[in-house]
Amino acid sequence: MTGRRETTSRVKHRQKMLRELAAEEVVYVISGQGHSRAVEALEALRRIKDGTYGICVDCGILIPSARLQVKPEATRCIDCQTESERRSTSHQGDSDYVPRRSA
Ligand SMILES: [Zn+2]
Repeated sequence: MTGRRETTSRVKHRQKMLRELAAEEVVYVISGQGHSRAVEALEALRRIKDGTYGICVDCGILIPSARLQVKPEATRCIDCQTESERRSTSHQGDSDYVPRRSA
């Protein structure tokens, strides 16, 4: 494996993508809708400035660059993202429900 860290040009490219995502936020705010992806993009841009971009906010590991390539606004690694989505939807969908038969 060559190149263990993000190259400057790659970060610049992501910054550009994030700015485009963040720009959508303006449209959504005007139309009165929240758009979490754009919010995340703004957050990611802030994190690039801080030098904390690409680090999972929950567990602190480096987010794999393959993940950042598909989701440049990601603030969590896949494990933490899955966990956080599971937690936020855990009270929905009673898949364990089995209709009870009268004996
Ligand atoms: Zn994590």
